[in-house]
Amino acid sequence: MYRAEICFLAGIHPLVPAREVSSEDAKVLWVLSVDLLTIGLRLNRIVTRDPQEVGLRSPSRISDDERLYVYKRDGEPCRRCHTTIVWADVGGRRVWWCPRCQPQSARRPSPRRQPVLT
Ligand SMILES: [Zn+2]
Repeated sequence: MYRAEICFLAGIHPLVPAREVSSEDAKVLWVLSVDLLTIGLRLNRIVTRDPQEVGLRSPSRISDDERLYVYKRDGEPCRRCHTTIVWADVGGRRVWWCPRCQPQSARRPSPRRQPVLT
């Protein structure tokens, strides 16, 4: 559950191999993991949604219907951009993501520029 949610919040496609995740992105993933696990422990349930997006002040007030972004939400509209959430089977485990918020290629390093010939 956290895996799908954290990738969403970081804007990282869940099928990007770990070795292609930049150290900056890895840091973002780490900070998000700590934050969300802390909230989860405090509330005794998993809430990944930003309460401000739902017009609330605290994650504790978010309903079960609204507490997640992508997990098991295939076919439903993305909470942020309304693109349909999709899923894939990865080694027997399902992952869910928003194709627009988590594009597969955007995070790849850009191709090296060709030297300008003068
Ligand atoms: Zn989206």
